[in-house]
Amino acid sequence: MGDLLANKTILVMGVANRRSIAWGCAQIMQEQGANLIYTYQNERLKKGLLKLVGDEASLFECDVADDNSIAQAFSEIKARYGKLDGIVHAIAYAPKAELEGEITNATRAGFQTALDVSAYSLIAVSKAAMELALLNDLASLVTLTYMGSTRAIPNYNTMGIAKAALESSVRYLARDLGKFGIRVNAISAGAIKTLAVTGIKGHSDLLEISKQRTVDQAAVTIREVGGTCAFLMSDLATGVVGDVIYVDKGVHLI
Ligand code: NAD
Repeated sequence: MGDLLANKTILVMGVANRRSIAWGCAQIMQEQGANLIYTYQNERLKKGLLKLVGDEASLFECDVADDNSIAQAFSEIKARYGKLDGIVHAIAYAPKAELEGEITNATRAGFQTALDVSAYSLIAVSKAAMELALLNDLASLVTLTYMGSTRAIPNYNTMGIAKAALESSVRYLARDLGKFGIRVNAISAGAIKTLAVTGIKGHSDLLEISKQRTVDQAAVTIREVGGTCAFLMSDLATGVVGDVIYVDKGVHLI
């Protein structure tokens, strides 16, 4: 418990279940005094979220592949809360066929979907928030990325390219939103067993190898990722702009 995020209202996008990285972020931010709002992709995912946060929580439907859905959710949030101090964007998707074999198997449609949902969505969300003047001074946007953006990880393929685009989007957004005092950063998390990861062919090997390559052979946890998310949301991080911070217990070093 602490008060690092006291009086901050933060939107968390991407909690699917208790294994979600966004849920680790939400837990730590709440322990640090933040008031949290959640979005969910669709009715099916709302059920899992409700189980975690209960009926009292503030939930809004938002499919980031659809500008109208983002606009609708954000205008409802604006009407209810006025301003936000932060947004956690923990969202990615690629069709399963993109996450196996070689990159030459990539299809135009699969590539577009992966880049749209996993990279462009951060720009779309930022744009909608700016259009509605939804963000306070010193607000912080945090997204989740993976080192498949800079390394050729087996089967990660199109998603690695999407993560490269996402990290680049972070830098351009940080430049443009920085003028308004808003910071944009990414956390590059180590491999964690979540719903999203199970879409990658051979994910058991990926998880096991990643675990072996941490400094203590124990996988990074969603709470450890959440700790860095809370820091980035806090005013302690006002000097961190447009960066990618690794929270993978050293896997990227080896
Ligand atoms: P997860 O499956 O728990 O979360 C993914 C979320 O994305 C889900 O809540 C899903 O509803 C949401 N989503 C997908 N398409 C959407 C859409 N069109 N509109 C709205 N929401 C949509 O998995 P996770 O691993 O917690 O993933 C969160 C983020 O962390 C992703 O960006 C992922 O790439 C990233 N990441 C994961 C790992 C890992 O090993 N798990 C490592 C590094 C980065």
